[in-house]
Amino acid sequence: MISKLAKETARRRTFGIISHPDAGKTTLTEKLLLFGGAIQLAGSVKARKAATHALSDWMSIEQERGISVTSSVMQFDYRDYTVNLLDTPGHQDFSEDTYRVLTAVDSALMVIDHAKGVEPQTEKLMEVCRMRNTPVVTFINKLDREGMDPLEILAQIEDKLQIECVPLSWPVGMGKQFKGVYDLYRGQLHLFTPGRDTRADEGGVTIRDLDDPRLDELLGSAADKLREDLELLAGAANPYDHQEFLKASQTPVFFGSAINNFGVKELLDAFVELAPAPGCRPAEPRPVCPDEESFSGFTFKVQANMNPAHRDRIAFFRICSGRFQRGMKVKHQRLGKEVVLSNATIFMAQDRANVEEAYPGDIIGIHNHGTIKIGDTFTAGKDELRFTGIPNFAPEHFRRVLLKNPLKAKQLSKGLVQLAEEGAVQVFRPLQGGDFILGAVGVLQFEVTVARLKAEYGVEADYEPVAYGAARWVSADDRKLLEEFKAKNWNNMALDAEEHLTFLSESPWMLSRTMEMFPRVTFHKTREHS
Ligand code: GDP
Repeated sequence: MISKLAKETARRRTFGIISHPDAGKTTLTEKLLLFGGAIQLAGSVKARKAATHALSDWMSIEQERGISVTSSVMQFDYRDYTVNLLDTPGHQDFSEDTYRVLTAVDSALMVIDHAKGVEPQTEKLMEVCRMRNTPVVTFINKLDREGMDPLEILAQIEDKLQIECVPLSWPVGMGKQFKGVYDLYRGQLHLFTPGRDTRADEGGVTIRDLDDPRLDELLGSAADKLREDLELLAGAANPYDHQEFLKASQTPVFFGSAINNFGVKELLDAFVELAPAPGCRPAEPRPVCPDEESFSGFTFKVQANMNPAHRDRIAFFRICSGRFQRGMKVKHQRLGKEVVLSNATIFMAQDRANVEEAYPGDIIGIHNHGTIKIGDTFTAGKDELRFTGIPNFAPEHFRRVLLKNPLKAKQLSKGLVQLAEEGAVQVFRPLQGGDFILGAVGVLQFEVTVARLKAEYGVEADYEPVAYGAARWVSADDRKLLEEFKAKNWNNMALDAEEHLTFLSESPWMLSRTMEMFPRVTFHKTREHS
Protein backbone atom coordinates (compact mmCIF):
# COMPACT_ATOMS: atom_id res chain seq x y z
CA MET A 1 0.00 0.00 0.00
CA ILE A 2 1.25 3.46 -0.83
CA SER A 3 1.56 5.68 2.21
CA LYS A 4 -0.34 8.94 2.41
CA LEU A 5 2.99 10.76 2.44
CA ALA A 6 4.11 9.13 -0.81
CA LYS A 7 0.74 9.81 -2.42
CA GLU A 8 0.64 13.46 -1.40
CA THR A 9 4.24 13.98 -2.50
CA ALA A 10 3.64 12.36 -5.89
CA ARG A 11 0.85 14.80 -6.70
CA ARG A 12 2.75 17.97 -5.76
CA ARG A 13 4.12 20.23 -8.49
CA THR A 14 6.21 23.11 -7.15
CA PHE A 15 7.48 25.57 -9.74
CA GLY A 16 8.33 29.17 -10.56
CA ILE A 17 7.89 31.19 -13.74
CA ILE A 18 11.01 32.64 -15.34
CA SER A 19 10.63 35.45 -17.82
CA HIS A 20 11.77 38.89 -18.79
CA PRO A 21 9.40 41.74 -17.76
CA ASP A 22 6.39 42.09 -20.08
CA ALA A 23 6.66 38.63 -21.59
CA GLY A 24 3.33 37.76 -19.93
CA LYS A 25 4.15 36.17 -16.58
CA THR A 26 1.35 37.99 -14.71
CA THR A 27 -1.20 37.24 -17.40
CA LEU A 28 -0.24 33.58 -17.53
CA THR A 29 -0.25 33.28 -13.73
CA GLU A 30 -3.79 34.62 -13.65
CA LYS A 31 -4.95 32.15 -16.28
CA LEU A 32 -3.32 29.27 -14.45
CA LEU A 33 -5.06 30.33 -11.24
CA LEU A 34 -8.38 30.47 -13.07
CA PHE A 35 -7.93 26.86 -14.12
CA GLY A 36 -7.17 26.05 -10.52
CA GLY A 37 -10.43 27.67 -9.46
CA ALA A 38 -8.61 30.37 -7.51
CA ILE A 39 -10.42 33.21 -9.18
CA GLN A 40 -10.33 35.73 -6.36
CA LEU A 41 -6.60 35.78 -6.20
CA ALA A 42 -6.24 36.23 -9.92
CA GLY A 43 -7.22 39.89 -9.57
CA SER A 44 -4.75 40.49 -6.81
CA VAL A 45 -1.83 39.26 -8.88
CA LYS A 46 -2.47 42.12 -11.25
CA ALA A 47 -3.14 44.49 -8.35
CA ARG A 48 0.21 43.68 -6.86
CA LYS A 49 1.97 44.21 -10.13
CA ALA A 50 0.36 47.61 -10.57
CA ALA A 51 1.43 48.53 -7.07
CA THR A 52 5.09 47.73 -7.56
CA HIS A 53 5.71 50.75 -9.72
CA ALA A 54 6.65 53.02 -6.85
CA LEU A 55 8.62 52.29 -3.73
CA SER A 56 6.07 53.98 -1.51
CA ASP A 57 3.31 51.77 -2.86
CA TRP A 58 5.44 48.73 -2.49
CA MET A 59 6.14 49.59 1.12
CA SER A 60 2.58 50.28 2.03
CA ILE A 61 1.60 46.98 0.57
CA GLU A 62 4.32 45.25 2.52
CA GLN A 63 3.06 47.08 5.57
CA GLU A 64 -0.39 45.71 5.25
CA ARG A 65 1.27 42.38 4.74
CA GLY A 66 -1.56 41.31 2.53
CA ILE A 67 -1.37 40.69 -1.13
CA SER A 68 2.37 40.44 -1.57
CA VAL A 69 2.74 37.68 0.96
CA THR A 70 -0.20 35.66 -0.27
CA SER A 71 0.78 36.00 -3.90
CA SER A 72 4.37 35.00 -3.11
CA VAL A 73 3.16 31.41 -3.06
CA MET A 74 -0.01 30.36 -4.77
CA GLN A 75 -1.27 26.88 -4.11
CA PHE A 76 -4.13 25.47 -6.12
CA ASP A 77 -5.53 22.11 -7.10
CA TYR A 78 -5.74 21.10 -10.72
CA ARG A 79 -7.03 17.67 -11.74
CA ASP A 80 -5.40 15.30 -9.27
CA TYR A 81 -2.49 17.59 -8.62
CA THR A 82 -1.68 20.17 -5.98
CA VAL A 83 0.29 22.94 -7.64
CA ASN A 84 2.53 25.38 -5.76
CA LEU A 85 3.37 28.35 -7.93
CA LEU A 86 6.14 30.45 -6.38
CA ASP A 87 6.32 34.05 -7.45
CA THR A 88 9.62 35.16 -8.94
CA PRO A 89 9.52 38.95 -8.45
CA GLY A 90 10.44 40.81 -11.62
CA HIS A 91 10.32 44.40 -12.83
CA GLN A 92 11.46 46.81 -10.16
CA ASP A 93 11.34 44.30 -7.36
CA PHE A 94 13.73 41.96 -9.13
CA SER A 95 16.18 40.97 -6.42
CA GLU A 96 18.24 38.18 -4.99
CA ASP A 97 14.95 36.68 -3.76
CA THR A 98 14.01 36.13 -7.38
CA TYR A 99 17.03 33.90 -7.80
CA ARG A 100 16.62 32.21 -4.45
CA VAL A 101 12.99 31.26 -5.09
CA LEU A 102 14.37 29.08 -7.87
CA THR A 103 16.35 27.07 -5.32
CA ALA A 104 13.05 26.02 -3.73
CA VAL A 105 11.25 24.77 -6.84
CA ASP A 106 11.26 21.40 -8.58
CA SER A 107 10.74 22.82 -12.06
CA ALA A 108 10.36 26.10 -13.90
CA LEU A 109 8.10 27.47 -16.60
CA MET A 110 9.86 29.79 -18.99
CA VAL A 111 7.73 32.40 -20.76
CA ILE A 112 9.08 34.02 -23.90
CA ASP A 113 7.53 36.82 -25.93
CA HIS A 114 7.80 35.54 -29.48
CA ALA A 115 8.39 39.02 -30.86
CA LYS A 116 11.31 39.63 -28.54
CA GLY A 117 12.89 36.21 -28.21
CA VAL A 118 15.31 35.43 -25.40
CA GLU A 119 15.83 38.54 -23.25
CA PRO A 120 18.47 39.28 -20.58
CA GLN A 121 16.48 38.52 -17.44
CA THR A 122 15.44 35.17 -18.84
CA GLU A 123 19.08 34.35 -19.50
CA LYS A 124 20.01 35.21 -15.91
CA LEU A 125 17.20 33.15 -14.44
CA MET A 126 18.00 30.21 -16.69
CA GLU A 127 21.54 30.34 -15.40
CA VAL A 128 20.18 29.87 -11.89
CA CYS A 129 18.02 26.93 -13.06
CA ARG A 130 21.08 25.36 -14.61
CA MET A 131 22.92 25.39 -11.28
CA ARG A 132 20.60 22.65 -10.02
CA ASN A 133 19.61 21.22 -13.39
CA THR A 134 16.03 22.30 -12.78
CA PRO A 135 13.75 20.97 -15.54
CA VAL A 136 12.21 23.77 -17.62
CA VAL A 137 9.01 23.82 -19.68
CA THR A 138 8.81 26.64 -22.26
CA PHE A 139 5.78 28.69 -23.27
CA ILE A 140 6.14 30.96 -26.29
CA ASN A 141 3.60 33.71 -25.78
CA LYS A 142 1.77 36.37 -27.80
CA LEU A 143 1.25 34.37 -30.99
CA ASP A 144 -1.72 36.66 -31.66
CA ARG A 145 0.92 39.25 -32.59
CA GLU A 146 3.53 39.26 -35.30
CA GLY A 147 6.83 37.87 -34.13
CA MET A 148 9.77 35.70 -34.98
CA ASP A 149 9.42 32.56 -37.02
CA PRO A 150 8.91 29.62 -34.62
CA LEU A 151 11.94 27.75 -35.94
CA GLU A 152 14.05 30.85 -35.54
CA ILE A 153 12.93 31.35 -31.95
CA LEU A 154 13.73 27.75 -31.08
CA ALA A 155 17.19 28.12 -32.61
CA GLN A 156 17.72 31.24 -30.51
CA ILE A 157 16.69 29.47 -27.29
CA GLU A 158 19.01 26.58 -28.07
CA ASP A 159 21.85 28.91 -28.85
CA LYS A 160 21.50 31.42 -26.02
CA LEU A 161 20.24 29.14 -23.27
CA GLN A 162 22.09 25.97 -24.18
CA ILE A 163 19.06 23.72 -23.91
CA GLU A 164 17.57 21.52 -26.60
CA CYS A 165 14.01 22.52 -27.61
CA VAL A 166 11.37 19.88 -28.28
CA PRO A 167 8.10 21.45 -29.45
CA LEU A 168 5.07 19.61 -28.13
CA SER A 169 2.75 22.05 -29.84
CA TRP A 170 3.18 24.00 -33.04
CA PRO A 171 1.61 27.30 -34.09
CA VAL A 172 -0.36 27.73 -37.29
CA GLY A 173 0.38 31.25 -38.46
CA MET A 174 0.82 34.25 -36.22
CA GLY A 175 -0.54 37.75 -35.68
CA LYS A 176 -3.66 38.41 -37.74
CA GLN A 177 -3.11 35.09 -39.48
CA PHE A 178 -2.88 33.11 -36.25
CA LYS A 179 -5.11 30.08 -36.74
CA GLY A 180 -4.28 28.00 -33.72
CA VAL A 181 -1.88 25.39 -32.44
CA TYR A 182 -1.37 21.79 -33.30
CA ASP A 183 -0.88 19.78 -30.12
CA LEU A 184 1.84 17.29 -31.02
CA TYR A 185 1.61 15.76 -27.58
CA ARG A 186 -1.97 14.61 -28.14
CA GLY A 187 -2.33 14.84 -31.92
CA GLN A 188 -5.04 17.49 -31.76
CA LEU A 189 -5.68 20.74 -33.56
CA HIS A 190 -6.89 23.69 -31.52
CA LEU A 191 -8.40 26.55 -33.47
CA PHE A 192 -8.00 30.11 -32.35
CA THR A 193 -10.74 32.72 -32.44
CA PRO A 194 -9.51 36.16 -31.38
CA GLY A 195 -11.04 37.50 -28.21
CA ARG A 196 -12.72 34.26 -27.25
CA ASP A 197 -11.80 32.76 -23.94
CA THR A 198 -11.18 29.07 -24.47
CA ARG A 199 -11.24 28.17 -20.84
CA ALA A 200 -13.96 25.59 -21.31
CA ASP A 201 -12.54 22.28 -22.35
CA GLU A 202 -13.33 22.18 -26.02
CA GLY A 203 -10.97 19.33 -26.54
CA GLY A 204 -9.76 20.40 -29.96
CA VAL A 205 -10.14 18.43 -33.16
CA THR A 206 -8.27 15.15 -33.06
CA ILE A 207 -6.23 14.79 -36.23
CA ARG A 208 -3.54 12.21 -35.80
CA ASP A 209 -2.71 11.83 -39.47
CA LEU A 210 -1.48 15.08 -40.93
CA ASP A 211 -2.69 14.03 -44.40
CA ASP A 212 -6.25 14.07 -43.08
CA PRO A 213 -8.23 16.34 -45.49
CA ARG A 214 -10.01 17.87 -42.49
CA LEU A 215 -6.81 19.78 -41.85
CA ASP A 216 -7.27 21.57 -45.21
CA GLU A 217 -10.93 22.23 -44.49
CA LEU A 218 -10.10 23.78 -41.15
CA LEU A 219 -6.93 25.67 -42.02
CA GLY A 220 -7.14 26.36 -45.76
CA SER A 221 -3.77 27.16 -47.26
CA ALA A 222 -2.16 27.23 -43.81
CA ALA A 223 -2.52 23.44 -43.67
CA ASP A 224 0.30 22.89 -46.14
CA LYS A 225 2.55 25.29 -44.25
CA LEU A 226 1.87 23.32 -41.07
CA ARG A 227 2.75 20.07 -42.84
CA GLU A 228 5.92 21.61 -44.16
CA ASP A 229 6.89 22.98 -40.77
CA LEU A 230 6.30 19.69 -39.03
CA GLU A 231 8.28 17.83 -41.65
CA LEU A 232 11.17 20.24 -41.19
CA LEU A 233 10.82 19.84 -37.48
CA ALA A 234 10.85 16.06 -37.63
CA GLY A 235 14.16 16.27 -39.44
CA ALA A 236 15.65 18.94 -37.18
CA ALA A 237 14.49 18.18 -33.65
CA ASN A 238 15.01 15.12 -31.50
CA PRO A 239 11.91 13.47 -30.09
CA TYR A 240 10.87 14.31 -26.55
CA ASP A 241 12.81 12.26 -24.02
CA HIS A 242 11.49 12.46 -20.48
CA GLN A 243 14.86 11.65 -18.92
CA GLU A 244 16.52 14.44 -20.90
CA PHE A 245 13.83 16.86 -19.68
CA LEU A 246 14.39 15.77 -16.07
CA LYS A 247 18.12 16.31 -16.51
CA ALA A 248 17.36 19.79 -17.89
CA SER A 249 19.03 19.12 -21.19
CA GLN A 250 15.74 19.25 -23.13
CA THR A 251 12.84 21.67 -22.76
CA PRO A 252 9.38 20.84 -24.09
CA VAL A 253 7.98 23.89 -25.89
CA PHE A 254 4.37 25.10 -26.16
CA PHE A 255 2.96 28.01 -28.14
CA GLY A 256 -0.04 30.18 -27.34
CA SER A 257 -1.45 33.48 -26.24
CA ALA A 258 -1.85 33.96 -22.51
CA ILE A 259 -4.11 36.98 -22.76
CA ASN A 260 -6.53 35.09 -24.98
CA ASN A 261 -6.22 32.07 -22.71
CA PHE A 262 -5.18 30.14 -25.76
CA GLY A 263 -2.84 27.19 -25.42
CA VAL A 264 -2.78 27.67 -21.66
CA LYS A 265 -4.86 24.65 -20.77
CA GLU A 266 -2.76 22.41 -23.02
CA LEU A 267 0.31 23.85 -21.35
CA LEU A 268 -1.01 23.23 -17.85
CA ASP A 269 -2.19 19.71 -18.69
CA ALA A 270 1.19 18.77 -20.06
CA PHE A 271 2.99 20.61 -17.29
CA VAL A 272 1.38 18.69 -14.43
CA GLU A 273 2.02 15.42 -16.24
CA LEU A 274 5.63 16.09 -17.21
CA ALA A 275 7.03 18.22 -14.39
CA PRO A 276 8.61 16.23 -11.58
CA ALA A 277 7.15 15.73 -8.13
CA PRO A 278 9.42 16.73 -5.24
CA GLY A 279 12.61 14.67 -5.26
CA CYS A 280 15.64 14.21 -3.03
CA ARG A 281 17.44 17.38 -2.01
CA PRO A 282 21.12 18.00 -1.40
CA ALA A 283 21.98 18.30 2.28
CA GLU A 284 24.91 17.72 4.62
CA PRO A 285 25.87 15.06 5.58
CA ARG A 286 23.47 13.23 3.22
CA PRO A 287 20.70 14.02 0.74
CA VAL A 288 17.14 14.05 2.07
CA CYS A 289 14.29 12.32 0.21
CA PRO A 290 10.65 13.34 0.48
CA ASP A 291 9.42 9.91 1.57
CA GLU A 292 11.37 10.09 4.81
CA GLU A 293 8.79 10.09 7.57
CA SER A 294 10.52 12.71 9.62
CA PHE A 295 9.77 16.30 8.70
CA SER A 296 12.47 18.58 7.30
CA GLY A 297 12.93 21.65 5.12
CA PHE A 298 14.69 24.96 4.69
CA THR A 299 14.11 28.70 4.54
CA PHE A 300 14.67 30.38 1.20
CA LYS A 301 13.23 33.83 1.79
CA VAL A 302 12.59 36.11 4.73
CA GLN A 303 10.07 38.87 4.33
CA ALA A 304 10.02 41.70 6.81
CA ASN A 305 7.04 43.61 7.92
CA MET A 306 7.69 47.23 7.06
CA ASN A 307 5.56 48.50 9.91
CA PRO A 308 7.91 49.50 12.76
CA ALA A 309 5.23 48.60 15.31
CA HIS A 310 5.36 44.98 14.19
CA ARG A 311 8.88 43.83 13.76
CA ASP A 312 7.98 40.28 12.96
CA ARG A 313 9.03 38.57 9.79
CA ILE A 314 7.76 35.72 7.72
CA ALA A 315 10.24 33.05 6.79
CA PHE A 316 9.25 31.13 3.66
CA PHE A 317 9.99 27.51 4.28
CA ARG A 318 10.05 24.68 1.74
CA ILE A 319 9.10 21.26 3.08
CA CYS A 320 11.52 18.59 1.83
CA SER A 321 10.43 15.47 3.72
CA GLY A 322 7.73 14.20 6.04
CA ARG A 323 4.43 15.78 6.98
CA PHE A 324 3.95 19.18 8.55
CA GLN A 325 1.33 19.48 11.26
CA ARG A 326 0.45 22.71 12.91
CA GLY A 327 1.92 22.98 16.38
CA MET A 328 4.63 20.39 15.77
CA LYS A 329 7.98 20.67 17.52
CA VAL A 330 11.01 21.01 15.29
CA LYS A 331 14.71 21.63 15.73
CA HIS A 332 16.22 24.85 14.42
CA GLN A 333 19.48 23.24 13.29
CA ARG A 334 21.70 26.32 13.22
CA LEU A 335 20.72 27.38 16.74
CA GLY A 336 20.35 23.83 18.03
CA LYS A 337 17.06 24.86 19.61
CA GLU A 338 13.61 23.33 19.68
CA VAL A 339 10.82 25.53 18.39
CA VAL A 340 7.09 24.98 18.08
CA LEU A 341 5.60 25.73 14.67
CA SER A 342 2.26 26.94 15.94
CA ASN A 343 2.19 30.20 14.12
CA ALA A 344 2.74 28.89 10.61
CA THR A 345 0.80 29.85 7.53
CA ILE A 346 0.05 27.40 4.76
CA PHE A 347 -0.15 29.36 1.55
CA MET A 348 -3.15 28.80 -0.61
CA ALA A 349 -4.81 30.57 -3.45
CA GLN A 350 -8.25 29.65 -2.19
CA ASP A 351 -9.66 30.13 1.25
CA ARG A 352 -9.97 26.73 2.73
CA ALA A 353 -10.60 26.43 6.38
CA ASN A 354 -8.83 24.07 8.74
CA VAL A 355 -5.83 23.15 6.72
CA GLU A 356 -3.61 21.70 9.34
CA GLU A 357 -1.06 19.75 7.38
CA ALA A 358 1.32 20.17 4.49
CA TYR A 359 3.60 17.89 2.49
CA PRO A 360 6.91 17.89 0.63
CA GLY A 361 6.91 20.56 -2.07
CA ASP A 362 4.55 22.79 -0.06
CA ILE A 363 5.68 26.14 1.29
CA ILE A 364 4.77 27.29 4.77
CA GLY A 365 5.28 30.74 6.24
CA ILE A 366 6.77 30.86 9.71
CA HIS A 367 6.33 34.02 11.76
CA ASN A 368 9.40 35.00 13.71
CA HIS A 369 11.26 37.92 15.21
CA GLY A 370 14.53 37.75 13.39
CA THR A 371 15.80 34.37 14.56
CA ILE A 372 15.51 32.75 11.14
CA LYS A 373 18.06 33.31 8.39
CA ILE A 374 18.04 32.35 4.75
CA GLY A 375 19.14 28.76 4.33
CA ASP A 376 18.17 27.66 7.87
CA THR A 377 17.20 24.02 8.19
CA PHE A 378 14.44 22.76 10.49
CA THR A 379 13.91 19.08 11.22
CA ALA A 380 11.68 16.95 13.39
CA GLY A 381 14.02 13.94 13.47
CA LYS A 382 17.14 13.41 15.52
CA ASP A 383 19.58 13.74 12.61
CA GLU A 384 21.80 16.75 12.30
CA LEU A 385 21.08 18.05 8.82
CA ARG A 386 21.76 21.12 6.76
CA PHE A 387 20.22 21.67 3.36
CA THR A 388 22.66 23.06 0.84
CA GLY A 389 22.28 24.93 -2.43
CA ILE A 390 20.49 28.02 -1.08
CA PRO A 391 23.32 30.47 -1.70
CA ASN A 392 24.02 34.17 -1.91
CA PHE A 393 24.31 35.29 -5.49
CA ALA A 394 27.04 37.63 -6.69
CA PRO A 395 25.60 41.17 -6.68
CA GLU A 396 25.65 43.30 -9.80
CA HIS A 397 24.86 46.72 -8.32
CA PHE A 398 26.88 48.51 -5.64
CA ARG A 399 26.56 51.56 -3.39
CA ARG A 400 28.65 53.07 -0.62
CA VAL A 401 26.70 53.78 2.57
CA LEU A 402 26.87 57.28 4.00
CA LEU A 403 25.86 57.64 7.62
CA LYS A 404 24.16 60.92 8.45
CA ASN A 405 24.81 60.77 12.18
CA PRO A 406 28.26 59.31 12.98
CA LEU A 407 27.14 58.45 16.52
CA LYS A 408 24.89 55.79 15.03
CA ALA A 409 27.75 53.75 13.56
CA LYS A 410 27.08 50.81 15.86
CA GLN A 411 23.37 50.63 15.00
CA LEU A 412 24.24 50.89 11.32
CA SER A 413 26.61 47.98 11.57
CA LYS A 414 24.09 45.87 13.51
CA GLY A 415 21.28 46.72 11.11
CA LEU A 416 23.31 45.92 8.03
CA VAL A 417 24.51 42.60 9.39
CA GLN A 418 20.95 41.57 10.22
CA LEU A 419 19.60 42.71 6.87
CA ALA A 420 22.37 40.78 5.16
CA GLU A 421 21.48 37.65 7.14
CA GLU A 422 17.91 38.02 6.05
CA GLY A 423 19.02 38.24 2.43
CA ALA A 424 17.66 41.77 1.96
CA VAL A 425 21.03 43.07 0.77
CA GLN A 426 24.70 42.06 0.80
CA VAL A 427 27.24 43.93 2.87
CA PHE A 428 30.96 44.22 2.15
CA ARG A 429 33.76 45.84 4.16
CA PRO A 430 36.70 46.75 1.94
CA LEU A 431 40.07 45.69 3.38
CA GLN A 432 41.15 49.24 2.69
CA GLY A 433 39.15 51.83 4.67
CA GLY A 434 36.17 51.49 6.97
CA ASP A 435 33.24 51.91 4.61
CA PHE A 436 30.26 49.71 4.06
CA ILE A 437 29.64 48.76 0.45
CA LEU A 438 26.24 47.31 -0.29
CA GLY A 439 25.70 44.86 -3.11
CA ALA A 440 22.41 43.87 -4.70
CA VAL A 441 21.02 41.92 -7.61
CA GLY A 442 18.20 44.47 -8.11
CA VAL A 443 18.41 48.18 -7.25
CA LEU A 444 15.16 48.31 -5.30
CA GLN A 445 17.03 46.38 -2.60
CA PHE A 446 19.01 49.57 -1.85
CA GLU A 447 15.91 51.68 -1.29
CA VAL A 448 14.35 49.03 0.88
CA THR A 449 17.54 48.81 2.94
CA VAL A 450 17.60 52.55 3.65
CA ALA A 451 13.91 52.51 4.56
CA ARG A 452 14.36 49.56 6.87
CA LEU A 453 17.46 50.97 8.54
CA LYS A 454 15.40 53.99 9.46
CA ALA A 455 12.24 52.15 10.48
CA GLU A 456 13.81 49.25 12.36
CA TYR A 457 17.16 50.55 13.59
CA GLY A 458 16.62 54.31 13.82
CA VAL A 459 19.54 54.95 11.47
CA GLU A 460 19.42 57.57 8.74
CA ALA A 461 21.66 56.53 5.91
CA ASP A 462 22.21 57.55 2.36
CA TYR A 463 24.20 56.26 -0.58
CA GLU A 464 26.81 57.41 -2.98
CA PRO A 465 27.74 55.69 -6.19
CA VAL A 466 30.78 53.47 -6.15
CA ALA A 467 32.81 52.27 -9.10
CA TYR A 468 32.17 48.55 -8.86
CA GLY A 469 30.27 46.49 -11.40
CA ALA A 470 30.87 42.86 -10.47
CA ALA A 471 31.77 40.75 -7.44
CA ARG A 472 33.10 37.24 -6.87
CA TRP A 473 33.93 35.29 -3.74
CA VAL A 474 37.48 34.01 -4.10
CA SER A 475 39.31 30.98 -2.82
CA ALA A 476 42.42 28.99 -3.68
CA ASP A 477 43.89 25.70 -2.49
CA ASP A 478 47.25 27.38 -2.14
CA ARG A 479 47.17 29.90 0.73
CA LYS A 480 50.25 31.66 -0.52
CA LEU A 481 48.68 32.20 -3.89
CA LEU A 482 45.58 33.69 -2.26
CA GLU A 483 47.75 36.04 -0.21
CA GLU A 484 49.52 37.10 -3.38
CA PHE A 485 46.18 37.68 -5.09
CA LYS A 486 45.01 39.75 -2.12
CA ALA A 487 48.16 41.86 -2.09
CA LYS A 488 48.05 42.52 -5.82
CA ASN A 489 44.37 43.50 -5.74
CA TRP A 490 44.30 45.10 -2.31
CA ASN A 491 42.09 48.02 -3.35
CA ASN A 492 39.45 45.65 -4.69
CA MET A 493 39.36 43.20 -1.81
CA ALA A 494 36.58 43.09 0.78
CA LEU A 495 34.99 40.82 3.38
CA ASP A 496 31.29 40.05 3.24
CA ALA A 497 28.94 39.91 6.24
CA GLU A 498 30.15 36.41 7.09
CA GLU A 499 33.81 37.39 6.66
CA HIS A 500 34.30 35.67 3.32
CA LEU A 501 36.93 37.11 1.04
CA THR A 502 35.44 38.88 -1.96
CA PHE A 503 36.88 40.49 -5.04
CA LEU A 504 34.99 43.65 -6.08
CA SER A 505 35.69 44.50 -9.68
CA GLU A 506 35.15 47.74 -11.58
CA SER A 507 33.40 45.93 -14.42
CA PRO A 508 32.61 42.48 -15.78
CA TRP A 509 35.39 43.09 -18.30
CA MET A 510 37.97 43.82 -15.59
CA LEU A 511 36.73 40.76 -13.76
CA SER A 512 37.39 38.44 -16.68
CA ARG A 513 40.83 39.98 -17.15
CA THR A 514 41.69 39.34 -13.52
CA MET A 515 40.35 35.78 -13.80
CA GLU A 516 42.64 35.20 -16.76
CA MET A 517 45.60 36.56 -14.84
CA PHE A 518 44.96 34.25 -11.88
CA PRO A 519 43.87 30.93 -13.35
CA ARG A 520 44.52 29.05 -10.11
CA VAL A 521 42.28 31.29 -8.00
CA THR A 522 38.64 30.17 -7.97
CA PHE A 523 36.06 32.91 -8.51
CA HIS A 524 32.65 31.91 -7.11
CA LYS A 525 29.44 33.37 -8.44
CA THR A 526 27.50 32.04 -5.46
CA ARG A 527 28.30 31.44 -1.84
CA GLU A 528 26.60 29.01 0.51
CA HIS A 529 25.35 30.38 3.82
CA SER A 530 27.43 29.31 6.78
P1 GDP B 1 4.84 40.33 -17.09
O1 GDP B 1 5.57 41.61 -16.96
O2 GDP B 1 5.72 39.25 -17.65
O3 GDP B 1 4.13 39.90 -15.85
O4 GDP B 1 3.78 40.57 -18.25
P2 GDP B 1 2.21 40.85 -18.23
O5 GDP B 1 1.45 39.60 -18.00
O6 GDP B 1 1.89 42.00 -17.38
O7 GDP B 1 2.04 41.24 -19.76
C1 GDP B 1 2.71 42.34 -20.34
C2 GDP B 1 1.84 42.94 -21.42
O8 GDP B 1 1.66 41.99 -22.46
C3 GDP B 1 0.44 43.29 -20.92
O9 GDP B 1 0.04 44.47 -21.55
C4 GDP B 1 -0.40 42.12 -21.36
O10 GDP B 1 -1.73 42.48 -21.58
C5 GDP B 1 0.28 41.75 -22.67
N1 GDP B 1 0.09 40.33 -23.01
C6 GDP B 1 0.21 39.24 -22.21
N2 GDP B 1 -0.06 38.12 -22.91
C7 GDP B 1 -0.35 38.50 -24.18
C8 GDP B 1 -0.73 37.80 -25.36
O11 GDP B 1 -0.86 36.58 -25.40
N3 GDP B 1 -0.92 38.56 -26.48
C9 GDP B 1 -0.80 39.92 -26.48
N4 GDP B 1 -1.02 40.55 -27.61
N5 GDP B 1 -0.48 40.60 -25.39
C10 GDP B 1 -0.25 39.91 -24.24
